[in-house]
Amino acid sequence: MLDILTHPAVSGLLVMTLVGALAYKLHFVDISGLISAFVVGFTIWYTGGVVSFIIILFFFLSAGLATKMNYKEKAKQNLAQEGKGKRSFSNVLGSGIIPMIFSVGMYMTSLSPGLVAAGWPFLMFGGYIGAVATTSADTLASEIGVFSKSKPRLITSLRRKVPRGTIGAVSLLGEGVALFAGLVIGVIALIIALLAPSFVPVISNTQQLVVLVPMSVLTAFIGCNLDSLFGAKLQNRFVCEICGSVTDKEFHCNYETKYVGGFKSFTNMHVNLGSSVMGATLGIILGAGLFVWILGGLFFWIAASSSS
Ligand SMILES: [Zn+2]
Repeated sequence: MLDILTHPAVSGLLVMTLVGALAYKLHFVDISGLISAFVVGFTIWYTGGVVSFIIILFFFLSAGLATKMNYKEKAKQNLAQEGKGKRSFSNVLGSGIIPMIFSVGMYMTSLSPGLVAAGWPFLMFGGYIGAVATTSADTLASEIGVFSKSKPRLITSLRRKVPRGTIGAVSLLGEGVALFAGLVIGVIALIIALLAPSFVPVISNTQQLVVLVPMSVLTAFIGCNLDSLFGAKLQNRFVCEICGSVTDKEFHCNYETKYVGGFKSFTNMHVNLGSSVMGATLGIILGAGLFVWILGGLFFWIAASSSS
């Protein structure tokens, strides 16, 4: 009996039924979101194991809570998620598909002794952490960053102050939240790896253990800012003729907005997909221990953007 219950397919179904029921009850997802969360969650439990599941669970629950946080206030200022803050399948897949691919990658590369010896499962785990850290940082930074007391600035020209909710707007509070999200994910992975190494079979040496937290913090921070940058450069933008906000919403202040720029079919979902691919790539590079490249790039980026 216990053998059946501990089989990952059975335990995954049980855990996802519990998590799904809770998420639905708390109005984090609608029906389509629930079904896709079930598929994503189950696949990650089955292929990436307990550690990967707990990491995506952190994202899922914290994003749900942050979206609900002062929802009425956000709705009043047109800063809220549509659908009463419930996420539908496009939201869930937009943030879950890249982590899911890397989770499956961990599983597949673990099957081949040659790839295991070459450290591939850990690189896939790096991609996984990078993708989830980016998505978590971006979601939490936008949901909590809108409460920033000072006006946010535009990532493409940091001297310019813009209204809250503007595409590509960044604030000190948002950046702090992004770093914190990365820190939490890294610490979760580290604690599990230290206390229950059998849940994190992809880690096989001390260097990989040491890399976890910095990898997570850096991918969260860089990935979240890349998301703002992609948003500012590429995403479709509309201007509200009532209050002057630049937004991705076709309605604002109860009126239809006017299209002003960006690629018309390039929505927030595409931006999020693009940034989680970038976050995953950074995670793989950091997983391979190539910190110098990322830190050097970050240094030049900050130098270049603070002089413009
Ligand atoms: Zn408006």
